[in-house]
Amino acid sequence: MNLPRITVIGAGLSGSEAALAAARAGVLVDLYEMRPSKMTPAHRSGNFAELVCSNSLGGEGDTNAKGLLQAEMREVGSLIMEAAQVARVPAGGALAVSREEFSQHVTAQIRSHPKITVHDTELSRVPEGIVVLASGPLTSDALAQDLQRFTEGEHLAFYDAAAPVISFESINMDIAYRKGRYDQEADYINCPMDKEQYAAWYQAVSDARAHTPHDWEKLEFFEGCMPIEEIARRGVETPRFGPMKPKGLHNPATDREPWAVVQLRQEDAAGQMWSMVGFQTGLKWPDQKLMVQTIPGLENAEIVRYGVMHRNTYLCAPKVLTATLQMRSDPRVLVAGVLAGTEGYLESAATGWLAGTNAARLALGQEPIVPPPSSMLGGLVRYLESANPKNFQPMNTNWALVPEFTPINPLGSRKKLGKREKRPLMFARGLEAFKAWWGEVKGDK
Ligand SMILES: Cc1cc2nc3c(=O)[nH]c(=O)nc-3n(C[C@H](O)[C@H](O)[C@H](O)COP(=O)(O)OP(=O)(O)OC[C@H]3O[C@@H](n4cnc5c(N)ncnc54)[C@H](O)[C@@H]3O)c2cc1C
Repeated sequence: MNLPRITVIGAGLSGSEAALAAARAGVLVDLYEMRPSKMTPAHRSGNFAELVCSNSLGGEGDTNAKGLLQAEMREVGSLIMEAAQVARVPAGGALAVSREEFSQHVTAQIRSHPKITVHDTELSRVPEGIVVLASGPLTSDALAQDLQRFTEGEHLAFYDAAAPVISFESINMDIAYRKGRYDQEADYINCPMDKEQYAAWYQAVSDARAHTPHDWEKLEFFEGCMPIEEIARRGVETPRFGPMKPKGLHNPATDREPWAVVQLRQEDAAGQMWSMVGFQTGLKWPDQKLMVQTIPGLENAEIVRYGVMHRNTYLCAPKVLTATLQMRSDPRVLVAGVLAGTEGYLESAATGWLAGTNAARLALGQEPIVPPPSSMLGGLVRYLESANPKNFQPMNTNWALVPEFTPINPLGSRKKLGKREKRPLMFARGLEAFKAWWGEVKGDK
């Protein structure tokens, strides 16, 4: 019997996992990888799933959001998790690997798989048939150009200008207040500052160190996406007349207009994540945290996604993708990894697994699948589908992606738990749901 074929473009973190998932699901795979004949500015070898920077796949354990995603990936027999096990090095509470050994293991598994044909060449056009696009944040120029056919020339970004995203539960709503400028819709959370508090914030942003970009990462910034540290560098009053403008934002607690205001805008449908408006930043992460925590109302802020400013190719997922990772405009095309709007090695591999599995299912005439909402992968792909498309930035794993957890005691009242108590329960809930779901999917084949 002739088996159906699918194509995967890119053998990075997402493409390697996609190719193996599809082959295991019973289809033939044509996998295209342009390295080493054409390198990206960040990769150094021709190995598959090369880790371009850190050698860590994130923290482990049942209080860690990455730990839950790792457990889900182990459940489905992930290639990246298998390679991490083989190449593991000691790193405290993190899953760190010897990068050479890690990518050599992935390369060997893929190249020796009887259902996968590797083509060591660039693909500059999205081909016919069922395709997984996994060409990553440094997608070749020709392919990026061709992608515009699927996005009506829009919804494709070439750099990140991201502001920190804060978990709602960590915002002090005794200080912050909801209000729209000039009493328009109260869609924003506002953090008010008096003159002294503004001076303290200004000192923190002035003292903070910026990330030093590689030459190829350097960007020309438009006025509309200037980093907050650059706005501050132009003068002590400049932020107050820019993103921190207090006009029309009366504080109900003092019945006065504050000296300056930091606004937060809702990022996800459930309102668990809020991004800082106009606060795109390239500051080093520890300095960024210090700067954010000088803002009244954000003194205990949990940053679920740090601000970054660097070159990056990704789609505006909520406009163009569904949670099955199919293109809305052409459902035979699936997208994974950073291109799909995720951030991180593990997230790329996980969406690669789902896109590869769904590509195979489509080729075999089966319905595509989406993991349950309480699982980390289910939360992540639902976020991609439903996030606020305005200024959409790639998202990494975090607890705000899954529904809030409030246990009900036998008398029916709701008990509020601290993070330490809650997270192992959220971990167990997510993993149990994921296992039950995957068991059903496997039984359904
Ligand atoms: C400089 C940099 C540093 C990063 N550091 C980290 C980090 O420390 N930790 C972390 O978790 N994440 C990091 N990331 C983010 C992200 O997790 C990684 O980039 C991850 O590798 C993304 O996986 P991917 O599969 O989307 O892309 P990649 O792993 O980059 O894979 C894409 C593959 O597609 C190939 N390709 C591109 N275009 C074509 C084409 N037209 N035809 C054929 N092949 C093509 C590329 O050669 C590449 O092998 C970093 C990103 C960058 C750019």
